[in-house]
Amino acid sequence: MRDRILITGASVAGTTAAWWLGRAGLDVTVVERTPGFRDGGQNIDVRGVGREVLRRIGLEQAALDHGTEGTAWSRRTARSPHSSSPPIRVRTDRPPRWQSCAATWPGCAYFTIPREADDDRLWRWYNAPGGRSVSLRPDRHGTARAMLSVQQPPGGEQDWDADRRKAWLRERFADAGWQTGRVLDGMATTDDFYFDVLRQVRMPRWSNGRVALKPYRLQG
Ligand SMILES: Cc1cc2nc3c(=O)[nH]c(=O)nc-3n(C[C@H](O)[C@H](O)[C@H](O)COP(=O)(O)OP(=O)(O)OC[C@H]3O[C@@H](n4cnc5c(N)ncnc54)[C@H](O)[C@@H]3O)c2cc1C
Repeated sequence: MRDRILITGASVAGTTAAWWLGRAGLDVTVVERTPGFRDGGQNIDVRGVGREVLRRIGLEQAALDHGTEGTAWSRRTARSPHSSSPPIRVRTDRPPRWQSCAATWPGCAYFTIPREADDDRLWRWYNAPGGRSVSLRPDRHGTARAMLSVQQPPGGEQDWDADRRKAWLRERFADAGWQTGRVLDGMATTDDFYFDVLRQVRMPRWSNGRVALKPYRLQG
């Protein structure tokens, strides 16, 4: 009899693990609690190991066919109105400390807004002074996916409702420049506003007997 594997969750990690384990000859069952696929969502960035996995599964071209063509960095020469500090230099002689990242990046909002004539097939990313960034990605539905992110110590944003979060973002990004005005206008009427804070889950171990965790990150 073939070994039997039960996988909980039919998202990226679950379906990928099922595909490989099935190929290895195991009898795999995947269970998923949600009743169907979500139609909405954001573009997904696939790099490094994630792209290698797609390649080996034979899905790389299919993903490219649905994707944007690359990233364009939108620059602006501005200094933060809140700080006279010199530019931050990142030390590269130490490994990254992820816990400090989690302590300073509380908020990220994603939503869909109308596309405009000069939206091309590039994902455009703009870093504004004050730890803010704005990005715009065209999708294949005739609209554009927008993101606003803010780096600052957490202030309880995870407990706010959508209206309060939108009001906070509108105020926080009011002077950000670039295409932010259009993004904020789109945020006011969008029907797929999503906001989350960056969190880190630290597990004391990754397996317990015959049960193992399988986190997945497409960016590798
Ligand atoms: C807004 C946003 C943008 C992101 N953008 C990117 C990106 O561009 N590139 C990138 O690499 N990553 C991105 N990520 C991270 C990426 O989405 C996750 O790393 C990835 O989805 C993790 O995959 P997973 O299969 O491990 O878990 P999940 O995608 O969380 O899937 C878990 C699945 O298990 C199901 N499940 C949970 N409990 C049970 C249960 N008891 N019984 C049955 N089913 C259950 C859930 O319904 C779900 O379908 C983003 C995340 C967010 C929130």
